[in-house]
Amino acid sequence: MRRKLMSMKHLRLAELLSQPEKYDTVVVRGWVRTFRANRFIALNDGSTIENLQCVVDFENTDESLLKKINSGAAVEIKGQLVESMGKGQSLEVMVETIKIVGEADPDLYPIQPKKHSFEFLREKAHLRVRTATFSAVMRIRSVLSFAIHQFFQDKGFCYVHTPIITGSDAEGAGEMFRVSVLDPQKPPIDDEGAVDFKQDFFGKETNLTVSGQLEAETYAQGLGNVYTFGPTFRAENSNTSRHLAEFWMIEPEMAFHDLDDNMDLAEEFIKYTLEYVLEKCEKDLAFLDQRLANEEKTKPQNQRSPMGLMEKIKFVVQNEFKRVSYTEAIDILKNSKPNKKKKFDYLIEEWGTDLQSEHERYLVEKHFNAPVILYDYPAKIKAFYMRMNEDQKTVRAMDILFPGIGEIVGGSQREERLEVLEKRIEELGIDAEELWWYLDLRRFGSTPHSGFGLGFERLVLFATGMSNIRDVIPFPRTPQNATF
Ligand code: ATP
Ligand code: MN
Repeated sequence: MRRKLMSMKHLRLAELLSQPEKYDTVVVRGWVRTFRANRFIALNDGSTIENLQCVVDFENTDESLLKKINSGAAVEIKGQLVESMGKGQSLEVMVETIKIVGEADPDLYPIQPKKHSFEFLREKAHLRVRTATFSAVMRIRSVLSFAIHQFFQDKGFCYVHTPIITGSDAEGAGEMFRVSVLDPQKPPIDDEGAVDFKQDFFGKETNLTVSGQLEAETYAQGLGNVYTFGPTFRAENSNTSRHLAEFWMIEPEMAFHDLDDNMDLAEEFIKYTLEYVLEKCEKDLAFLDQRLANEEKTKPQNQRSPMGLMEKIKFVVQNEFKRVSYTEAIDILKNSKPNKKKKFDYLIEEWGTDLQSEHERYLVEKHFNAPVILYDYPAKIKAFYMRMNEDQKTVRAMDILFPGIGEIVGGSQREERLEVLEKRIEELGIDAEELWWYLDLRRFGSTPHSGFGLGFERLVLFATGMSNIRDVIPFPRTPQNATF
């Protein structure tokens, strides 16, 4: 009997539920979400947000077996697929045989059929994907990453794998994680009394990368259009709902592209990936839309978002991003109500200050009510490699700001003129020798080129309507937290 059960091909629920008319007797495998009245199993196998109700004939089932049908247990069920009379589902399986594949002790299994807070589930990150919300988020994350590759591959971009361990810290400025094999108890000391990194694995100080951009630029100057999609690391102590110490970044880099081309590509790219998710993840999105609506109801009326999740995504896909220069943005902010009434924590007084997230949110959520691309920032608040404008004050930078998220993309046209770049590097006190290879790109066949970095988790946040970035990556890395 058992052998026969195992030999019948089991169906994943997504496949079964998409064409139920094809099936009569089925074998399904998954985890018990709930077991009600010794009769109704809500089964889920991770392939879809939907559970399959399996009805147990409890009068003819051993009590010892019934006792093992608990939330979290892995089971294999064979039975007839029939139309359901009950509310809430159109199909159910009349259980003929049930096999407990892996038990879950109800006194110990932490994910009980009740509402758990996301904080609690973060401590159970190894089990949280068995909940409806996290499984939906992670399926969308998977589809989104595929959409990203599809977008660039369709356009003929080459996927490059930039190094994760890097020997240059030009970009990091104190926010990098050191990679070392030296004994922290007694590291070798050089003549000057400093740690002698010449004796370290790479013969020099090395770190985990904060961005693949500089290396991606080298490949763009040969392959033309490239993109990276990989992990990046930042040891910044910002304990916010939008920062991780380890996150994934997508960084396209294009030769012969100016800042306008860059903005066009970034906008098209974001819209494409969101549209892709709208099309492919309908059920997961509908579930998360409802989840968000329920969460919104718990907030005071004046803090509720006027749009639902799907509405927000469609709004972004269908509307043009507003393109505004930093200088225009400062004028808007200076004259804004919260600035005049001193409601901002950081008041905008003069041109040249960096924008805080309260300012970005004001522009996006209050003033423009749309995603905003801010460009031409003051040189002194941006990185050394951004192209200097003729005013000698601003650089060709662009940030894309999203409702509820803030900055989702940071990019620029790169400085392609050797002398100008060398001057900037010197002014900022960066070690030019370290960057010899980067400067070579400006010595040999230099081109006007551009690129940007999109934080993958921030895109997933937006697409799922989740509010904390720790809940859109399987195992979040944040200050004081690297369990799992
Ligand atoms: P922020 O001001 O939000 O810290 P940033 O200016 O440091 O961002 P960039 O260096 O331009 O960001 O990085 C490019 C993109 O990477 C950002 O637009 C954002 O989407 C994402 N990003 C940056 N830092 C983090 C982080 N710590 N966790 C997750 N995503 C991040
Ligand atoms: Mn940052």
